[in-house]
Amino acid sequence: MKSNKNPYDNMLEQLDAAAKIADLPIEEYITLRYPEREFTVNFPVEMDDGSTQVFTGYRVQHNSIRGPYKGGVRFHPDVNMDEVRALAAWMTFKCAIVDIPFGGAKGGVTCDPSRLSQKELERITRAYTVGIAPLIGPEVDIPAPDVNTNAQVMGWMMDSYSTYRGQNVPSIVTGKPISIGGSLGRREATGKGVSLMVREIAKEKGIDLKEATVAIQGFGNVGSVAAETLYGMGCTIVAVSDISGALYCQNGLDIPSLLQHVDSHPKHLIEGYTQEGLECIDNHMLLTLKVDFLIPAALENQITEDVARETKARIIVEAANGPTTFEADNILEDRGITVVPDILANAGGVTASYFEWVQNLQYLTWDEEKLDANLEKKMVSSFQSVYNTAKEKNTSMRMGAYIVAISRLVEATRLRGKI
Ligand code: GLU
Repeated sequence: MKSNKNPYDNMLEQLDAAAKIADLPIEEYITLRYPEREFTVNFPVEMDDGSTQVFTGYRVQHNSIRGPYKGGVRFHPDVNMDEVRALAAWMTFKCAIVDIPFGGAKGGVTCDPSRLSQKELERITRAYTVGIAPLIGPEVDIPAPDVNTNAQVMGWMMDSYSTYRGQNVPSIVTGKPISIGGSLGRREATGKGVSLMVREIAKEKGIDLKEATVAIQGFGNVGSVAAETLYGMGCTIVAVSDISGALYCQNGLDIPSLLQHVDSHPKHLIEGYTQEGLECIDNHMLLTLKVDFLIPAALENQITEDVARETKARIIVEAANGPTTFEADNILEDRGITVVPDILANAGGVTASYFEWVQNLQYLTWDEEKLDANLEKKMVSSFQSVYNTAKEKNTSMRMGAYIVAISRLVEATRLRGKI
């Protein structure tokens, strides 16, 4: 069962613990404990049946000391200010870890996209964009896709913002459709980045990927691309799940045919997929399977204390943001289970977003090879700084990641004369 813990408290506990290990006095990093700005927008939307509904959206701008605010927009029934606030802070740390010139932000609209038509989704997106338009800008705050938002949603955001400004502004969002300024390789970048992190930690731990088993929670844009890439690297993907349930196959799932099934499913779900030796399991079973790699690629607070106590996974690579509670983290550490933390593991998405933004600002386009090569370089060097910092301080990779991020943020704050 998902924990109800306030994700912002989780973030604060992680931040304070890392500052303690780094011997950093509170005055030096206190600004990171607070978001710089937070906005709530309420906007009416006409539904297909002619009724009017008021939706609530958020945008939290956590920190801009290293550059413009950057972060995705999520559409989900559980979206609330506490969640968006935590996700915004994680973006600040993530961008610092991969060393790209962005701060952190996040947005969201409380709605259930599975019950909305495309037209309703478009009207919600446009109304939300108009609501936050005075607060964002291509060099102020640049949104991107997140849970339940995609290139089409970014296309609508870009169009609405361009209308608001009276000129074409492709650099206002990243993760756009390729034909209107999106970048080749951006859609796949988060999942590919996760796979690169699996490859790097496997090297450190002496695990042969051709012998490795993997379980993936979540089969959306991130989980499905990670499955495809890891399958390509020779891993055996034994379990995957989405909102329709979880599937297990001891000999490994046939990922290409599962992807084909999901592609042709009206709601893009794994439900109804068949293969020899396939078993239906539940979410808790998936999270506690005996595998080399467990990849949570869904929402926050999934790896609770119970899961942490019971899981038989060797290594957890966090593709989702905030999937592990602070308490669970301590249990995993005591049990010697390595966690490659979210703010490193899923940073491939925002890294590719940065490359898309750079292309937009320069009015040029990169081929996919160039994007992939640059993404790999950033992800591998970031992995090394986090891994080495953790080793040097004799701590977890999560603490190592925070220490790398905080030291860059504190240095920028000092140099700008803010402390
Ligand atoms: N939503 C993604 C994340 O959580 C990507 C953000 C971006 O590209 O700005 O990292």
